[in-house]
Amino acid sequence: MIRDFLEIHGEYHDDKSFKDLTTLKMGGPIRHLIMPESAEDLKTIIAYLKTERIPFKIIGNGSNLICGEAEYEGVVICMKKLNTYRISEDEVYAEAGVLVPNLAMILAKQGYSCLEFAAGIPGCIGGLVYMNAGAYKGCMADVVKEVMVLKDDQLVWMNNDELKFSYRNSIFHSHPHWAVVAAKLKLERKPSEEIEELMADRLRRRRETQPLDKASAGSCFRNPDNDFAWKLIDSIGYRGFSINDVCVSEKHSNFIVNNGNGTADDYLNIVYQIQDRVKEKYQIRLVMEVEKFNC
Ligand SMILES: Cc1cc2nc3c(=O)[nH]c(=O)nc-3n(C[C@H](O)[C@H](O)[C@H](O)COP(=O)(O)OP(=O)(O)OC[C@H]3O[C@@H](n4cnc5c(N)ncnc54)[C@H](O)[C@@H]3O)c2cc1C
Repeated sequence: MIRDFLEIHGEYHDDKSFKDLTTLKMGGPIRHLIMPESAEDLKTIIAYLKTERIPFKIIGNGSNLICGEAEYEGVVICMKKLNTYRISEDEVYAEAGVLVPNLAMILAKQGYSCLEFAAGIPGCIGGLVYMNAGAYKGCMADVVKEVMVLKDDQLVWMNNDELKFSYRNSIFHSHPHWAVVAAKLKLERKPSEEIEELMADRLRRRRETQPLDKASAGSCFRNPDNDFAWKLIDSIGYRGFSINDVCVSEKHSNFIVNNGNGTADDYLNIVYQIQDRVKEKYQIRLVMEVEKFNC
């Protein structure tokens, strides 16, 4: 019944798991996965799921998620097929499923400064807006003009001020049923070589300092005020600590990586141990940046 409805509103799968859809490559089966190809289909799907009281989760590239092993009995809506973009003189319109590193490269080649800070963030536009993702002192709040939001069954444009951006946070955290459908980002003209050089330099630094050859969800913890999570983790001796296939990276101690058959239980066991030790030693509560889902 759900399947019959979903199949006519996008690409439908009943044989996928969170292992397939997250960069951490962990997590159990997904009963229904739907990938809508238009905003209208997305609107119809969400209206139906709300009316039928069927739980759902919207995802982009799954690069900030840690998912449990139990089957997810609701519907995962993956936005990656909503992936068109249009560049005009001073802005780019990009749908939620556009992969940010790809867009950053395209803009750089055409001489547009905008997403240099995000070239190494392996998420989609919707996920980066949701997280107000950032790096190198830049974040989405600096470049977003407006976001098209599906809320209360309507498609509306919300401007930057209305999105309540703060450190790795936005209004969407308190409205899990709202969907980011597209965003307009500010562009500035700059020589391509200058932008490409900056991005290449930052990507090189990332390769040197982050375990990019391993499955991960990026930084596990937020940096506390005036401190760095990796330093605190090092100081309690957890660099390299592992439980089964899940390991605190030797290369960057705020990255927890999956060496193959890791599970969310192993990952969270490490997280809770680190939180306890850091609390004991420094009275600082490390807060997860990675989001737990279905666990
Ligand atoms: C190697 C690596 C490096 C990283 N480096 C950085 C970094 O430098 N800075 C940084 O900030 N992050 C970093 N991250 C974390 C991650 O890439 C970001 O948090 C990114 O914003 C997540 O985007 P996503 O599309 O993968 O979102 P997902 O992981 O799919 O989803 C994350 C959250 O966003 C919600 N969401 C996704 N799309 C939508 C939508 N269209 N509408 C509404 N809600 C939506 C989901 O429900 C979920 O709650 C890194 C991750 C990895 C693996």
